[in-house]
Amino acid sequence: MPDGILSYIRSRQPEIVALIRKLVESESPSGDPAAVNRFVELLADELAGLARIRTFKGGRFGSHLRAEFTLPGRKKSGQLMALGHSDTVWAMGTLRQMPFREAAGRLWGPGVLDMKSGIAFLLFAARALRELQIPVARHVVLLLTSDEEVGSESSRPLIEREARRSQAVLVLEPGQGLAGRLKTSRKGVGDYTIAVQGRAAHAGLDFTAGASAILELARQIERIAGFTNLKRGITVNPGVVSGGTRTNVVAAEARAEIDIRVVRAKDAQPLDRKFRSLKPFDKRCTLAVTGGLNRPPMERSAGTVKLLRTAQKLAAELGVNLEESASGGGSDGNFTAALGVPTLDGLGGVGEGAHAPHESLLVNRIADRTALVAKLLAAL
Ligand SMILES: [Zn+2]
Repeated sequence: MPDGILSYIRSRQPEIVALIRKLVESESPSGDPAAVNRFVELLADELAGLARIRTFKGGRFGSHLRAEFTLPGRKKSGQLMALGHSDTVWAMGTLRQMPFREAAGRLWGPGVLDMKSGIAFLLFAARALRELQIPVARHVVLLLTSDEEVGSESSRPLIEREARRSQAVLVLEPGQGLAGRLKTSRKGVGDYTIAVQGRAAHAGLDFTAGASAILELARQIERIAGFTNLKRGITVNPGVVSGGTRTNVVAAEARAEIDIRVVRAKDAQPLDRKFRSLKPFDKRCTLAVTGGLNRPPMERSAGTVKLLRTAQKLAAELGVNLEESASGGGSDGNFTAALGVPTLDGLGGVGEGAHAPHESLLVNRIADRTALVAKLLAAL
């Protein structure tokens, strides 16, 4: 027997695609609050009649949006949180080189996968539940942050407050790979900056009076790179270095910006201690170390595994074999999982190329993903 929700959603697929197009064509780079706010307004219009909307100021970023859906079912207890973000990594005007288009069984365009399709799926999941009168036992709240792609500094308190009220968090980030695997764990992410102060001198006239910040930094980088422990899932990546002024000057200054990732929360502190206790090789140089973990890891908890099992069972009803995976990237789900709230991530679009010019969404996975979200809202 065909699944009722799935056939309903299939019948609405052209409208889902049209909404994804609308969302993609409203560009929303993290660093452009006016653009993000236009996107948020557009979405608020789409949600009107489906949900009660509130927006929260995002400081130097755009507004965060909270939508509480009106769904069938008399008595509601507890809350399910759907989590997403309105911002993208794509600069304003990217649409000119990467216009929204449908080709080769995919939708293409900036943010189509990460994560405008996920937002569209949730909206149509809610519509399906309403139009099919499928009761939902819990309050369903969508929180869309405006600064996820740049670390969520302004939205983190809001995410955590909403998560604490919730029994489960469903993250609308894209699935992993072309199979659309769900993400049950994510690495924690942080960054450090090491600024070296040396002593400038003429490289020809007074070489020995100089203390090269660049040489010092190079030796520190070698040491820092040694903090990587692939077996434990700890990586340390000096991603940006700068320093010096001219070839004939012993460099007085140099700095490195370093990305760190940990699988386990308990590895963050010892790593931090290693960074903090770095000592200069050349005593005439000084080091200033700043930074730390900004997203705690999402560890694969029992609560999350239980959510996964439910999702797998529901996906099987849709004829989909749903697998899980671990991600090296962070999302806002890291914050909710770290609070101990069962969090299932990667429920959004299936495709590839997030943050890359070939960002694209598989059209033939739109319906089952949307149906899965609807079924989860009804089942949890
Ligand atoms: Zn994302």
